[in-house]
Amino acid sequence: MDNEKVKEAAELIRKAKYAVAFTGAGISVESGIPPFRGRDGLWEKYDPIFLEIEYFKKKPLASWMKIKEVFYDMLQDAKPNLAHQVIAKMCERGFVESVITQNIDSLHQEAGSRYVYELHGTHKQLVCTECQSEYHINFADFDFLPPTCFVCKGILKPDIVFFNEPIPQFAKSRSFAEAEKSDVFIIVGTNAEVYPANEIPVAAKNSGAIIIEVNIKESHFTNSITDIFLQGKATEVFGRIGELLYL
Ligand code: NAD
Repeated sequence: MDNEKVKEAAELIRKAKYAVAFTGAGISVESGIPPFRGRDGLWEKYDPIFLEIEYFKKKPLASWMKIKEVFYDMLQDAKPNLAHQVIAKMCERGFVESVITQNIDSLHQEAGSRYVYELHGTHKQLVCTECQSEYHINFADFDFLPPTCFVCKGILKPDIVFFNEPIPQFAKSRSFAEAEKSDVFIIVGTNAEVYPANEIPVAAKNSGAIIIEVNIKESHFTNSITDIFLQGKATEVFGRIGELLYL
């Protein structure tokens, strides 16, 4: 980790009028949740077809068996790490206004961040594919798959965005609005391969924001829009930023 660059970034965040954080799977890796792509990524072990919306509609049981294993068994014990916690403190202290996340793990909210826009939904909620009733996961019975609706017996779907499904309109429009309003935009742990999420940092850049990026390795953003690249694990970089901002 380049200490001088981290100091420069912390100073920019301290002086920012409207800083926004934008996070991807990388921020949760140190909470024990693997990313999708790359070495040790989920797609090394699983065929991503179980998250295709058409596959889910045709084979809900097969899809649910994988969904339960990947998202529910694995996320059940995951806790926010230092990076989520420092971002939450930055929100609390007014250094960061909001968090836009591609993650579905809800760890930002668990850490205490209040204004979180979940572009790809949340695993904490299930929605009925027939009558649209919504349930918190605590009310779902995962012993009998696929879980069904108490109202109409329709099949429940996790409230996450499947492949070939649109992004929820509210989260999308708010995220672009936040990006365009920001003067400092902090990208954390994302490869920027998922559309339209990957256009949000570009919208921030085009509106004049300074782009700070945290990642263990370069992404598609690094040599295109990033102004300050902080190479390192999210917990290490945010641990240091937290110290510099006296959080
Ligand atoms: P990705 O899997 O494509 O990439 C992960 C990125 O994180 C990479 O750039 C990698 O270099 C970086 N990274 C890995 N470990 C890191 C660390 N310790 N600190 C900092 N950076 C680190 O993820 P993505 O670009 O976010 O997009 C894929 C999709 O995956 C998203 O739509 C998201 O919904 C979904 N996803 C979510 C979760 C979750 O909720 N935790 C987990 C896996 C995938």
